[in-house]
Amino acid sequence: MLGLKRTGSSARLRVLCLGAHSDDIEIGCGGTLLQLAKTRPRPEFRWVVWSAVGARATEAQRGARRILGPSAGDAVRLHEFRDGYFPAEFAAIKDAFEIVAREFKPDIVFTHTREDRHQDHRVVSDLTWNTFRNQLILEYEIPKWYGDLGLPNFYVPVSRRAAANKTKALLDVFGSQRSKDWFSEETFLGLMRLRGMECRATDGYAEAFHARKIILPL
Ligand SMILES: [Zn+2]
Repeated sequence: MLGLKRTGSSARLRVLCLGAHSDDIEIGCGGTLLQLAKTRPRPEFRWVVWSAVGARATEAQRGARRILGPSAGDAVRLHEFRDGYFPAEFAAIKDAFEIVAREFKPDIVFTHTREDRHQDHRVVSDLTWNTFRNQLILEYEIPKWYGDLGLPNFYVPVSRRAAANKTKALLDVFGSQRSKDWFSEETFLGLMRLRGMECRATDGYAEAFHARKIILPL
């Protein structure tokens, strides 16, 4: 299992990003990925969205490109499982997870948090732990009506520029979500500001994760 720091390693980090719907990855860890994509050697990314149909598929592709830049390459894999019905499609989604695991061996996996009250998000989180057992798994948070934000225990400080770029990308790319009352600059910047306060981030912004198992290699 990957530890906290890979000092001296020149190998490319392999990063798997999993999101139930278009925009989940960007909301949950867009700032972290914006910064990660600029590290050297450039990480190799795989970006999987489990329900992305029609206009939402186009948004998923554009969102990944905005966050990863040149690193997006052919990283994006889109599925068309029915939005809101993941528990009923569990077996098929589990099979698709196995294919992801065969094709891509990640060091880090970003996924939904286990306590997320959205049923699709929970299925993705559960299958992440079911499938990937030798990776650092970081569970991101999605603000929503349920009010299910918990007590994260792992923080990634995000620069002021990355926080602004993530927010702008969300508002620019996801036209299908703009009519939702919560999909706003205040929501995204506000949550990152609170998490930044909690970890005393230099620029005041951060993204927070639930990390259930971390190894410190000495
Ligand atoms: Zn979602």
